[in-house]
Amino acid sequence: MRRTRPAYPEKLEKWHRPLLRWEESGSAAVLLDVRHSDVVVIGAGQAGLTSSYHLRRTGVDHVVLDRSDGPGGAWRHRWPSLRLGGVHGIHDLPDSPLRETDGARPAAEVVSEYFERYESEMRLPVLRPVKVHAVRDGGARLLVESSAGTWAARAVINATGTWENPFWPHYPGQRRFTGRQLHTADYRGPAEFRGQHVIVVGGGISAVEHLLEISEVAGTTWVTRRPPPFTDTPVDGRAAVAEVERRVRAGLPPGSVVSATGLPNTGAVRAAWERGVLTRLPMFERITADGVEWADGRTQRADVILWATGFRPALAHLAPLHLREPGGGIRVAGTRAVAEPRLHLVGYGPSASTIGANRAGRAAVHEIHALLREPERSLKGTCPGT
Ligand SMILES: Cc1cc2nc3c(=O)[nH]c(=O)nc-3n(C[C@H](O)[C@H](O)[C@H](O)COP(=O)(O)OP(=O)(O)OC[C@H]3O[C@@H](n4cnc5c(N)ncnc54)[C@H](O)[C@@H]3O)c2cc1C
Repeated sequence: MRRTRPAYPEKLEKWHRPLLRWEESGSAAVLLDVRHSDVVVIGAGQAGLTSSYHLRRTGVDHVVLDRSDGPGGAWRHRWPSLRLGGVHGIHDLPDSPLRETDGARPAAEVVSEYFERYESEMRLPVLRPVKVHAVRDGGARLLVESSAGTWAARAVINATGTWENPFWPHYPGQRRFTGRQLHTADYRGPAEFRGQHVIVVGGGISAVEHLLEISEVAGTTWVTRRPPPFTDTPVDGRAAVAEVERRVRAGLPPGSVVSATGLPNTGAVRAAWERGVLTRLPMFERITADGVEWADGRTQRADVILWATGFRPALAHLAPLHLREPGGGIRVAGTRAVAEPRLHLVGYGPSASTIGANRAGRAAVHEIHALLREPERSLKGTCPGT
C-alpha cells in the first residue's frame, strides 16, 4: 500500500514510530507498511475509554482512534447551557470517579476535563484527531483505514456513538424556508433566538429541554409526530434496555431513547406545562418561505426551525463489511456483530448510555480475550447469533 504521508499527530509518531517505515522520495514520503495492533478501538467517548481501560488493564496491545480535536466524546460538543446538574446522570468511568460537585458548570466542560484526566491517569493510547473512513475485511485481520493511515487488527471495538450522525427528516418546502434551520447538534443555547419565533420539531428529551430554555426569551411552537409520552412513573431502566436489546438482536435499528424510556415529568416540565410551553401540535404538512402550514390550512410564521429529531448510530465507516440487515440495523449478540465476530459494537443499542457503555466495554474485552487466544484467521460468517 503506497500513500502520501499524512500530517501525523505528534503523539502518534512517538508511539508508533517503531512500526512505521517511511521512504523519502524527494520532498514526499510514502507509507510502505500497514501498522499492526491486536485491537483497534474507534472512538474515545465513554464507550471507547471504558474499552481501552479494560484492554490496558489486561495487557492487550491496542490503539484508540478518535476523530475529535480533544477529549470528551460527544459531551465535548453539547450546548454550553446544558449544565452538569441538568443531565440525567453521567456514570463514572472505571476506577476513577468524576468528582465534580458544581452542578452549574457546563456538562461539556466538566466531562471534557474528566476524560482528559482519565486518559492521562490510565495512560490510554488515544490518538487524535484521527478519523476512521472504513473498516474492511482483510482476511486474517480487519483493516482500519483512517486519516492517519491503516491499521490491521485482530479485533475492532466500534465506539463511535451517535453525535456525528444527526438525523434531519425531509418535509416538502424545506428548501424554500428563508429563516434559519438548525439541528440539536448545532444548538448553542437560547440567547441567539431572543425576540424571534422558533418551531421546535421532535418529541424527545432534547426537544423538551430546548423548549424550556428558548421559551424564556422567544416565542415557541412545538410539533411532534406522536403525542409525547410524558410519564410520572420512574424509568424502568431494565425494561427499556431489554426492549432495545430485543431490537438489535433482531437486526433492527435501536430506536429512539424516548420510545424506550418515556419523558419524565420533572418539576421543570410541570412548570413549563403551566406556562403553556408544552402544548404540542401534530406535524405540519409543509414548510413555506416564512413558516409552516398544516393540512387544515392553519399556518405559523417562524424565524427558526430547530430540528430536535435525534441522532442515528455513526456507522458509515463499517459499510464495507456489509453488516446491515434488511431491517436497517446491525445484528449483535451482546456486543459482538453476529456476521463479523471480530467486531464489537460498544455504546450501540442497549449500551448507548454512560452506564451501558461501561458494562459493554468490559464484556467486549472479555470476549476479545478469548478471540485473541485463537489462531489468526478470518472468522466472518463463522459464528451463529447466540
Ligand atoms: C443530548 C444528549 C444528552 C445525553 N445525556 C445523557 C446522560 O445524561 N446520561 C447518559 O448516560 N447518556 C446520555 N446520552 C447518551 C450519550 O450520548 C451517551 O451516554 C454517551 O455520551 C455515549 O458515549 P459513546 O462513547 O458511546 O459515544 P460518544 O460520546 O459520542 O463518543 C464517540 C466518539 O467517537 C468519535 N468518532 C465518531 N466517529 C468516528 C470515526 N469515524 N473515526 C474516529 N472517531 C470517531 C467521536 O468523535 C467521539 O469522540 C445523551 C445523549 C444526547 C444526544
